[in-house]
Amino acid sequence: MSTTLYTPDREELAGLLVGEPRYRLDQLWTGLYTQLAAPADISNVPKALRERLSVELPTSLTQVVRKVSDDGDTVKYLWELHDGSRIETVLMLYPDRVTVCVSSQAGCAMACGFCATGQAGFTRQLSVGEIVEQVVVAAREARAMERRLANVVFMGMGEPMANEGAVWSSVERLHGAIGLSARHITISTVGIIPGIRKLTERKLPVNLAVSLHAANDTLRDELVPINTRYPLDDLMQACSEYLAAKGRRLSFEWALIDGVNDRERDAVELARLCRQFRLPAHVNLIPLNPTPGYPTIGSSKAKVAAFHQHLIGLGVNATVRRNRGTDIDAACGQLAAGQPVALRTKPAER
Ligand code: SAH
Repeated sequence: MSTTLYTPDREELAGLLVGEPRYRLDQLWTGLYTQLAAPADISNVPKALRERLSVELPTSLTQVVRKVSDDGDTVKYLWELHDGSRIETVLMLYPDRVTVCVSSQAGCAMACGFCATGQAGFTRQLSVGEIVEQVVVAAREARAMERRLANVVFMGMGEPMANEGAVWSSVERLHGAIGLSARHITISTVGIIPGIRKLTERKLPVNLAVSLHAANDTLRDELVPINTRYPLDDLMQACSEYLAAKGRRLSFEWALIDGVNDRERDAVELARLCRQFRLPAHVNLIPLNPTPGYPTIGSSKAKVAAFHQHLIGLGVNATVRRNRGTDIDAACGQLAAGQPVALRTKPAER
């Protein structure tokens, strides 16, 4: 694949500017990452160079659809990439902050049955440029609304720790070029232990989120199939090492599925697991969002509240996450890039 606008790092961009005065690099870098401008609009750079760069460094994302939720606080973009694969990005505007949820892969190979992306399967890895561009576009849109994008969550399509290299290079770019704080960047994983270990060695202390959903191996094997390769005890150990190395916040995602993982004993098991590994994790409770290929429904409001209370009672820090963008299929687990997801006939076994 030829390189795209947000692929080269500073040094690589310098390599494309041979024969240009030294300050061009700064002008371009600032134009791209501080002004969030398209090359054509970086007006202090000579027109001929801007034109050359527009050809040599095309952008990666072609907008197919842009949907805004009913209350206008969630924007979902569907992008087409140069090879026709499609990905989604979600921009979320809160009263006190702006967050973008980015994709790290086109599709996903993790096959979690309750997740629309997992149901659709894996297409390919995203490049650094494709990841960074999602953030730039969202930050530009936030700026147009007189808001500042400060938070990035790798919770869109794909498994970031199965594309660790590109994900990490993009984290460095977001931090170094756009100026986002590592504390405001969260990487979510199904629990790929080698990926978590790699993150532990990386310099920037980003937040780690683990999609747990079950606190025993039997149930987790079923809900998050990669658990058969990276079982809970090993996963908790890796999380604990991450925490010890970084002192960053660790969170567990728990999609509440009716009758599957929302009972009192599930709360007790989760509390026991956190205690056993001395993990002061924050649990994010998300009532399961509907997806075409998963028959079981999300827990009722009352069950969500009861589960939340059980956890609190057991001394586990937990919050219920408000669901955003369900009306535009932009909520957790609903990103399928407009692909029809085959309906499963077999209901989830318990
Ligand atoms: N692959 C990574 C990044 C995706 S994050 C990971 O799994 O962590 C998306 C989050 O939404 C994950 O916690 C995922 O388990 C959760 N999720 C998937 N399907 C969901 C659904 N139908 N309802 C609610 N949450 C869901």
